[in-house]
Amino acid sequence: MLGALIGVCALYGLLVGSFLNVVIYRVPRHESVVRPRSKCPSCDATILGRDNIPVLSWLLLHGRCRNCRLPISVRYVLVEVTGGLLFAGAAARLGFNWDLPAMLVLLASLLALACIDLEHMLLPKRIVYPSLLMVGGLLVLAAIMTGEWDRLVVAWICAASWFLVFFIMNFISPQALGFGDVRLAAVLGLGLGWLGWRYVALGFFSANLIGAVIGLTLIATKRMSRHQQVPYGVFLAMGAALAIFAGPELLAPFK
Ligand SMILES: [Zn+2]
Repeated sequence: MLGALIGVCALYGLLVGSFLNVVIYRVPRHESVVRPRSKCPSCDATILGRDNIPVLSWLLLHGRCRNCRLPISVRYVLVEVTGGLLFAGAAARLGFNWDLPAMLVLLASLLALACIDLEHMLLPKRIVYPSLLMVGGLLVLAAIMTGEWDRLVVAWICAASWFLVFFIMNFISPQALGFGDVRLAAVLGLGLGWLGWRYVALGFFSANLIGAVIGLTLIATKRMSRHQQVPYGVFLAMGAALAIFAGPELLAPFK
C-alpha cells in the first residue's frame, strides 16, 4: 500500500512540477498562470497537450520544440523530476498520515520559490501568501482529523516567532535579508513547526550551514564576490527540505 502511495505521489509531483514551471516563468513577469496556454520561448508556438506530458514529451522530442526545433531548456525537466522526487520522498517518509498534504504543498512552494529566488533574487508575495494559507488550512484539517490541536498551537507559535526573528534581522540589515525572506520564515515556521519546534531550529540551522558552505566555496573559487547579494530563500528551502526528510535521524542525538 505504501508503494502505491509513493507511486501516486511521484506522478502527482511530476504534474505539479510541470505547473510550477509555468509559475516560475510567469509569476516574476507578472503574468497569469492560467492563461494563455504555454508557448515555446523561442518561436511562440502554442505547446500542444500531447507535447506537454512531464519529462516524457521532452525525451520524445529530444529536448526540442516540435515547431522550430530549437532546444528547450533542461531546467523544465529538472523542475518536473525534482517535483516527482520530493513528492515520492515525502510519501515514503510520512506514509498515510495527515501531515502529508501540508508537507507536499510546502515542498512544492519551496521548489517554486527557490527557482525564482535563484534567478530573480525575489520571493513573490503571489506565491508566499497562498502557500501560507494552504499550509495553514491543511494543518487545521490535520488537527481536526487527528485531534492534535497542541501541534497546531506549536506550529502557529513557531510561525509567529520566526517571523519576528527575521523581521528584526531585516530591520537591522535589510541588505543581507530581504522582506521576502521574512514572509517565507512565517511559512517555514508554520510547516516545520507542525513537525515540532526542533524541526524549525534544524531547518534554519541547516539553511545557514548550507548557505555558508556554498557561499564560501563560491567566494574561494572567485565565482562570487563577497559583497554580492545571496538568494537566501534558496538555502531556506534546502534547509527546510533537509529537516523534513532527514529530521528524525539528525535530531535523534538531541532527544
Ligand atoms: Zn519553438
